[in-house]
Amino acid sequence: MLKHTNLVIKILIALILGCNFHKNKISSTSYLPHHTSITSLLKKLKLDGHLSFHNIHHASKDFGNRYSFLPAAVLYPKSVSDISNLISYIFQMGPTSPLTIAPRGHGHSLEGQAQAHQGVVINMESLGISQEMHFHIKENTNTPFVDVPAGKLWINILHESLKHGFAPKSWTDYLHLTVGGTLSNAGISGQAFRHGPQINNVYQLQVVTGTGEVVTCTEKQNSDLFYGVLGGLGQFGIITRAHISLEPAPKMVKWMKVLYVDFTTFTKDQEQLISSNSSFDYVEGFVLINQTGLLNNWRSFFKNKDPAQASRFVSEGKTVFCLEIAKYYKQEDMGTIDQVML
Ligand SMILES: Cc1cc2nc3c(=O)[nH]c(=O)nc-3n(C[C@H](O)[C@H](O)[C@H](O)COP(=O)(O)OP(=O)(O)OC[C@H]3O[C@@H](n4cnc5c(N)ncnc54)[C@H](O)[C@@H]3O)c2cc1C
Repeated sequence: MLKHTNLVIKILIALILGCNFHKNKISSTSYLPHHTSITSLLKKLKLDGHLSFHNIHHASKDFGNRYSFLPAAVLYPKSVSDISNLISYIFQMGPTSPLTIAPRGHGHSLEGQAQAHQGVVINMESLGISQEMHFHIKENTNTPFVDVPAGKLWINILHESLKHGFAPKSWTDYLHLTVGGTLSNAGISGQAFRHGPQINNVYQLQVVTGTGEVVTCTEKQNSDLFYGVLGGLGQFGIITRAHISLEPAPKMVKWMKVLYVDFTTFTKDQEQLISSNSSFDYVEGFVLINQTGLLNNWRSFFKNKDPAQASRFVSEGKTVFCLEIAKYYKQEDMGTIDQVML
């Protein structure tokens, strides 16, 4: 019975939030209610935060700059109930309502995923500002974690975690992205070969479903919802909080970048590094195409005193492959770390 109810709820969620997925196909506004009627309907909502109907053009843009759909309103929530009230209100309008909703993290999507054509965009960073992070770091626990609002940027989580001597286990390269935004994708960087992507490093989520219900889910509790929202691009519910797995932050890191001109050697080395029991903590591969100034940028591997070796990798007009590897170590290992790396 419970299984059946869950299935019905999941289908409802998909139907409601699925409208968002197809929003790019909406080419005419003729079957949308008149803008002013949407505005007056939404104005009836009682909120801790607020809805904005003006100066909302930023919500029709994203990093990709390829799609631009103007919403009718942007919600700046101050509480989870703001999100839940909005969704249940729209849910009660019934299945024929064309009003769509999209949660927006930092807007670094490429194809309009966080936009809602004539609908409501929920500014998740607003919730990230009004809510706190809570650290759960008991001594001798194997599972330290931080409970964060989904609108927080990873860079802020890193800064706060470091104050406690901890850091999340799995990262993206770029940290000005929200927790909800990357957990709705995957969240991949050089730690994924060891810990899995960010979606593998979450213990618990708080989610507002397509009916407006606030549900806690884990691997064992409401697991359909848990696995639906992780990597779900906002189609199965809106993540409002997440428990992110932590580990003690390394004190020192040796970082190395290796350039290759031969693809086969590059992939062979990378496969060996991630599949062997090597003790590296970070391994990531890149393809660099037509990069200029490769040897002079801040991530350059070569020392000025080694121009002969550096000249082999003049990359202008060429494809060059790069392995970035890092190893965490302690002060007492300083004398041996260079040998370990080589
Ligand atoms: C410069 C740059 C560097 C990047 N580097 C990496 C990288 O190293 N590794 C990697 O894995 N990815 C990387 N990405 C991709 C990035 O992880 C995704 O684009 C991610 O979705 C962006 O997060 P955001 O906070 O900007 O989310 P948004 O773009 O705002 O939203 C992304 C999607 O998630 C949904 N969403 C947002 N918040 C929530 C929520 N709380 N609950 C449910 N759904 C939600 C949105 O509706 C949308 O569908 C990079 C992107 C850029 C532009």
